[in-house]
Amino acid sequence: MSQNPSLRERVRSIPDYPKPGIIFRDITTLLQDPAGFRETVDLLVAPFEASAVDKVVGVEARGFIIGGAVAHQLHAGFVPARKMGKLPWETVSAEYDLEYGTDAIQIHTDCIARGERVLLVDDLIATGGSAGAALDLIEQVGGSVVGCSFVIDLPDLGGSAQLRERGYAVSSLIEFE
Ligand code: AMP
Repeated sequence: MSQNPSLRERVRSIPDYPKPGIIFRDITTLLQDPAGFRETVDLLVAPFEASAVDKVVGVEARGFIIGGAVAHQLHAGFVPARKMGKLPWETVSAEYDLEYGTDAIQIHTDCIARGERVLLVDDLIATGGSAGAALDLIEQVGGSVVGCSFVIDLPDLGGSAQLRERGYAVSSLIEFE
């Protein structure tokens, strides 16, 4: 992980959103900047350029924006991992823990062919719950995970360390406390 000051300063930090005690890391200010968006995508793609990625999976919703651009640049297909009930075809689902309760994401059963090489992309990793669930789904349908790529890592919440312990290559561009 290398810190990128020029990208870091383009992320807007909003205290106590969506609830007291949370600092929301808002990437819309990074994405709306033409040079910032391009540099973000270029840096996310770089470690995986030689990885022969077949599919990029993006987690709803900000992972769609980043993941679509990354997939285009890697000449890969794009697969949305969506919240429950949004996908119209046959799905597989995985639950993950939230601070209070659980949530779940889904992918289509036919979105990845057995053995295809898959990169997971999202804007931010915190506890790793949503990324871990997405990785379970990718493997359940037969995908081979080549890595996970995030714009922002909140390492104090432990998600990236957990994914590395599970053996995944994890890369990110910016860290916040
Ligand atoms: P987690 O599953 O705990 O790793 O949380 C990651 C997901 O929640 C990502 O899709 C993020 O968009 C969102 N998220 C969690 N914490 C924050 C935060 N502090 N600022 C912005 N987004 C967050």
